[in-house]
Amino acid sequence: MSNVMSLPPWPPAFTPEQQAKLLLLASTYALSRGFTLLPPSPTNPPTSAIPAPLSLCPTPFPRELYDLAVRIQPAYNALYVNITKDVEFLDRVMGGVVSKVDEFQRELWRCWKECRDELVQPLQLGLFRSDYLLHESQEQGKPLELKQVEFNTISSSFGALSELAGKLHGYLRASTNYFGSSELLSNPQSYPENDSLRSLARGLAEGWKAYGKNDAKILFVCQEGERNVFDQKWLEWELLEEHGIHVIRHTFDEIPTYARLADTPKRELLITDPLQPSAPASEIAVVYYRAGYTPTDYPSKQQWSTRLLLERSNAIKCPSLALQLAGAKKVQQVLAEPGVLEDFLFRGDGQQQFVSKDVEELRQTFTGLYPMDNTELGKEAYRLAMEEPEKFVLKPQREGGGNNIYRQDIPPFLRKLEASPTAPGEPPKKEGYILMSLIEPPQGLRNLLVKGGSLTANEGDVVSELGIYGVALFSDRDEGCVVNRGAGTLLRTKGRESDEGGVAVGYSVVDSVVLV
Ligand code: ADP
Ligand code: MG
Ligand code: MG
Repeated sequence: MSNVMSLPPWPPAFTPEQQAKLLLLASTYALSRGFTLLPPSPTNPPTSAIPAPLSLCPTPFPRELYDLAVRIQPAYNALYVNITKDVEFLDRVMGGVVSKVDEFQRELWRCWKECRDELVQPLQLGLFRSDYLLHESQEQGKPLELKQVEFNTISSSFGALSELAGKLHGYLRASTNYFGSSELLSNPQSYPENDSLRSLARGLAEGWKAYGKNDAKILFVCQEGERNVFDQKWLEWELLEEHGIHVIRHTFDEIPTYARLADTPKRELLITDPLQPSAPASEIAVVYYRAGYTPTDYPSKQQWSTRLLLERSNAIKCPSLALQLAGAKKVQQVLAEPGVLEDFLFRGDGQQQFVSKDVEELRQTFTGLYPMDNTELGKEAYRLAMEEPEKFVLKPQREGGGNNIYRQDIPPFLRKLEASPTAPGEPPKKEGYILMSLIEPPQGLRNLLVKGGSLTANEGDVVSELGIYGVALFSDRDEGCVVNRGAGTLLRTKGRESDEGGVAVGYSVVDSVVLV
């Protein structure tokens, strides 16, 4: 257990001239090194980029808890791999009540059910990110704790920008020594190595290699109008330059025009190049989704049939439908029920790999998680949500930020849900949600946040969310994983008043840690 009691006051004091210098150095670095986003209304092709949201200083984080988060990532990877392999569990948890009340989860689950008995490719690839906040207990003298916000199994973004943010802060240290303002900032040992870009690209390359065809390519499935495109392009260039692997990018809507399955028992995924229609089609080894995690990615039946086409192919999916379902918030809540965590972790070769200390370390990162159903626990959760809403966040089965209901908004929201009609025999709509205790990050930390190239007026406290990336390559016909490792880290920092944490949705900045 950590004995970290508190963090230093932050950031150190800078004169306005020093701040201006840091801003200038950070902005030029960001623009020239590709720490960038597309501007709000980009031209095609783009003629400008803006610095991605950033912090001028890295943010202090307890070394012990950072090390803990990194250390337990392989166990978290193994846990979600084992969940993904358990058809009966996913049918019960995601195909049951959740599918009855949540149309998006229902379609994901239905698509999976429709094709799962005829899948030809046994390998699946996960590029995960487990997200945490520091928790400061109300009890006097209790050390800071690491608490998991969620575990992402699809489109875990910012791996590239995160590695660049670490380099940017390293550059500011090297070139200004942060004006001698802080011993912590002056000490190179405070800055951990972070290779999230290289490590995630290596994960995709490992999937590609396991597919076993030298001329096969990787397909990135992207969103139309994506502004966080450079985070993806960095992966593409790393794959090409370090691994000799070619990437093809397409949106869901483009795929039906260019993609088909070979008329063979293996159903290879083949993509035609629209600029060279008579050239042989490219075979796809890995389908990497940076889209498909939110209902707006599926405006009609056509996108669902595209998803099904890709799923049925011989390409390795990152993630498969099953792996995406395993990342649902409902699964996170069920894992907190007694016995479930150890049951999954000790499955297969987990029995040799993990011990009860691993279970303890994972469980220590859980915070209160409750179903919104008719069980005793569910009834208790409902009472808590109505009577003490300031302690909770209510979460639907959604990804991408901006979907949760916080604190005082919970009771009227639940009342409204209950007032909306359900068909006879259907479960109440609230069962599509989970209730989670609010994690209370330590107070008193601030930072200099830069958005759209300018320092924000934010004078208040900030909150930082640590993400730990993980890679798992596994076969549903074998125990355990072919690859299971951590893959670098991310720190996102936002004003404390903002409940949601997404960088892409405009609330937080990409930061990095200095360890204390
Ligand atoms: P999403 O999948 O949309 O990113 P999250 O579960 O990560 O959903 O929630 C979005 C944001 O809400 C998080 O980044 C965090 O800032 C905040 N949040 C979520 N759960 C909690 C919690 N239990 N305590 C405090 N803040 C939370
Ligand atoms: Mg998420
Ligand atoms: Mg999140």
